Amino acid sequence: MTLSQQWRVAPSRGACSRCAAEFPEEGVFFSALSESEEGLARRDYCRDCWQEADGDGHFCFWRTRRPPADEEPVLDTELMLDFFDRLRSADTEEKVAFRFVLALSLMRRRELKLQEVARGPEGEDLVLRKRRSGEQVKVHNPELDEEQIQAAAARLGQLFDARL
Ligand SMILES: [Zn+2]
Repeated sequence: MTLSQQWRVAPSRGACSRCAAEFPEEGVFFSALSESEEGLARRDYCRDCWQEADGDGHFCFWRTRRPPADEEPVLDTELMLDFFDRLRSADTEEKVAFRFVLALSLMRRRELKLQEVARGPEGEDLVLRKRRSGEQVKVHNPELDEEQIQAAAARLGQLFDARL
């Protein structure tokens, strides 16, 4: 199964998680990730419900638009960088994996540049520099195999409804 097939069978995201109102095609809505038993989970809100949900302590949120049915959206670089920063103090295996996989993807997009690989008692860290700000950041390498990397990328694709 390819990644794009997995997204298509992902749970329907066409409606508000509070009031169940359907989002019109290309209509604006809000999405938020929050902590759940199974790791980060996503909820979508219409504009009205978002006003009430805004203070619910989400891990990250963004304003989005329902894409036309035939469009496969690509994850927005700004959103990716924001999520990457929020994962700085990643405290679960899932978040550590997400941060690493995002780093790989941001390197492909030339937003992050590898400076060096630092080895310490807790394993390997990638030392990266942000293209825009010049800021140096460290990303722990959780030593995932190819399959685990694909799985984390697929999960991110589902959470954000977009290709990395
Ligand atoms: Zn609603």
